[in-house]
Amino acid sequence: MKVEPETLSGFPFLTGTIRLLVSLILLSVFLTNCTKEKPFRETMFLMGTLVEIVAYPDSQQVRDAVGRAFRRMEKVEALADLKAPDSPLASLRRGEDADLPYELLQVLSVALDVARKSGGAFDPTMGELVALWGFDRNEPNVPGSFQISEAMGSVGYERLSVDGVRVRVFGKPVWLELGGIAKGYAVDEAVRVLRESGVRAGIVNAGGDLRAFGEKPGGKRWRIGVQDPDDPQGLLGVLSLKDGSVATSGDYERYFEVDDIRYHHILDPNTGRPSRSGIRSTTVVASECVLADALATAAFVLGPDRGRELFEGQNGVEGILVIEDGQILKTSGIGSVIEFESR
Ligand code: ADP
Ligand code: MG
Repeated sequence: MKVEPETLSGFPFLTGTIRLLVSLILLSVFLTNCTKEKPFRETMFLMGTLVEIVAYPDSQQVRDAVGRAFRRMEKVEALADLKAPDSPLASLRRGEDADLPYELLQVLSVALDVARKSGGAFDPTMGELVALWGFDRNEPNVPGSFQISEAMGSVGYERLSVDGVRVRVFGKPVWLELGGIAKGYAVDEAVRVLRESGVRAGIVNAGGDLRAFGEKPGGKRWRIGVQDPDDPQGLLGVLSLKDGSVATSGDYERYFEVDDIRYHHILDPNTGRPSRSGIRSTTVVASECVLADALATAAFVLGPDRGRELFEGQNGVEGILVIEDGQILKTSGIGSVIEFESR
C-alpha cells in the first residue's frame, strides 16, 4: 500500500524553525488567495425580481463587466416589454406581420420549440389571458367565464411563423407574452457578457432562475437550493452543478387568494385558468437558462407524468417535480448526473 507523505514531513532535512517558516509562508499564500478569490456581488431589481450577480474575482475589470451584464439585462427587459407602443410586437397585436429584433427572435424560437414539444402546454401567445387575469399589472382578479373563453380565442402558437427576421401572423391578432421565458434569456445574455468580458466564474440569479459558469475558486461545485413549495423559506434539497442553469416554476411564486382558493400565475391554455395539474413546483436543470425557464413552465402545466416525460425526452435536461401530495418525482439523471442532496 502506498502512503502519501504528509506535505511537510516529506522534507526530513528541514529543521523545526525552517518548517515553521515554510508553514507561515504557505499560510500567507493561502490567505492571500482567499482574499483575491472573494467574489464581487451586486444586486438590481429587474424583470419584476431581484437579480444578483456574483462574479470572481473581485477586481475593477470584473466590476465593469457586471455593470455591462446588468445593462444587457435591462435591454432585454425593455425589448420584452410588450406594452411599449413602439414595440414591433404591437404590430402582431394588430394582426400584422412584423420584423423582430434579434433578441426577440431568439426568445421566440425557443418559445415556439417548447410550445411544440409540450403540445401547447407552454404557449407564448397567452398575452390576452394573462392581462385578463391581471397578472401583468399586479392587479389580479378572477375574470368571468365568458371573458375567459373570449380571450382563449386569441391563444394559438401555431398561428405564428418565423421567416428570417419576419414574424408572420395567420388569422387573428397575436398577443405575445414572454413572461415565462424572457427572464431565462436575460440570464443567459448576462452570462454571455460576463464571459466575453473575461470573467472567469460566476452566477447570475434572477429570483431563482439562474446560471452558473466557470470553475468556482477551490474547484468546488455551485450549490443551488431547491425551495420547498410548502415553506418557500426552507429547502427541499440542494443541487450541485459544475456549470449550467436552474429554473423553477411554482404555485407559490405569484398568486392571489379568493375564498381560500389559490389563483397562481401559470395558466393552462386549455382552460384559460390557473393550471391544476397536481404540481406545486417544477425545477429544471439545463445548460441554457432560456430553455430551463420555458420547460419549467411547460411541465408545470403538463402535470407530473407528462412533465417528467418532457424532461426525459431531451438531452442535457433533468428535473425535479413536487406533487400536491408531497411526493417528489425526479428524472433519471438527478442523483447520478446531477448531485442532489434531499433535506
Ligand atoms: P416566474 O416568472 O415566476 O419565474 P414562470 O417562468 O413559471 O414564472 O412564468 C410564469 C409567467 O409565464 C406568467 O406570469 C405568464 O406571464 C406566463 N405564462 C403563464 N402561463 C403560461 C403558459 N401556459 N405558457 C407560457 N407562458 C405562460
Ligand atoms: Mg418559466
